[in-house]
Amino acid sequence: MKKHNFYAGPSILPEFTIQKTAEAILNFAGTSLSVLEVSHRSKEFIAVMDQAIALVKELLEVPEGYEVLFVQGGASSQFYMVPFNLLKTKAGYYNTGVWAAKALKEAKLFGEVVEVASSKDKNYNYIPKNVTIPSDLDYLHITSNNTIYGTQIYKDIDSPVPLVADMSSDIFSRPIDISKYDLIYAGAQKNLAPAGVTLVIVRKEALGKMDRPIPTMINYLTHIEGESMFNTPPVLPVFSALQTLIWLKENGGIKAMEAKNIAKAKLLYDEIDRNKMFICPVPDPADRSLMNVTFVMAPGYEELEKTFLARAKELNILGLEGHRSVGGFRASIYNAMPIESIAVLVDAMKEFETQN
Ligand SMILES: *Cc1c(COP(=O)(O)O)cnc(C)c1O
Repeated sequence: MKKHNFYAGPSILPEFTIQKTAEAILNFAGTSLSVLEVSHRSKEFIAVMDQAIALVKELLEVPEGYEVLFVQGGASSQFYMVPFNLLKTKAGYYNTGVWAAKALKEAKLFGEVVEVASSKDKNYNYIPKNVTIPSDLDYLHITSNNTIYGTQIYKDIDSPVPLVADMSSDIFSRPIDISKYDLIYAGAQKNLAPAGVTLVIVRKEALGKMDRPIPTMINYLTHIEGESMFNTPPVLPVFSALQTLIWLKENGGIKAMEAKNIAKAKLLYDEIDRNKMFICPVPDPADRSLMNVTFVMAPGYEELEKTFLARAKELNILGLEGHRSVGGFRASIYNAMPIESIAVLVDAMKEFETQN
């Protein structure tokens, strides 16, 4: 029976990625060995790493002067790695959700941190507008997609200071003007690969300017010089990431993906706005995430939340529970989510309205 996987992360991956990974676990690149047991220094694996880096550059049109890295420790380790390498005196942070706040907290260990904008006053249900960005910051850190609250900064913002972005949950979902950023990072487990690898895109010129000593593994330059192989990389997640990148390319690249994502999100938001039993906690449609669609029971129907979740489970709709800090529902509809699965959810919402 087909399952509709709406989990927020780890989350749905293309069937292509899972199939190719399964094959490589049995026989990797014709070696008659599993990808789980070959040296990362073998020519077969070096080819995987090289191709993955090249495809990230191609798909995202990464300009000259930028490096693509695969590192470990998850996006959460980037919360300290970024300021360790880039914060000299003062940095600015957008506080647009739990992940953004966690990143901000870590930066305070390294220097002065200004909360340039915040949406905490309304439980993070909007993206701050008309923000004045101070010009004396070492960098401004934003979270492009707030996975828990379902808000997204679609457009690469104009900033007088270098931008750093946590794109864990929307990388590869839309074209990005990389030249606007000094550093972008993304934990793989939302839109790319199984957990265990983190993608970093960094402008090389931004590095190497710090007076403080930086531990070897925390220094981006180590991973640039080591070509993401300074130490043993997470071989399996990198292999799977390559399969997802191949799948992205074969399916028309990032622009085509964006068009599909817009259509998918529209289908679901239109139903939430139409259906009298549900509302979206993000009032401004311009702030609504294309990747994580949050919704709650409308006033008067709150007690039916569990009933709807149970009905969804019967229909093989999985992972629809909202994050515990928001409640309600969250449908994570990453790149690999087919529109057919969203249609199943929309039909369930319609059915629920007629029956209640
Ligand atoms: C999931 C997520 C994280 C945390 O990622 P880990 O790899 O688990 O550390 C950070 N930021 C955002 C935006 C996320 O969605």
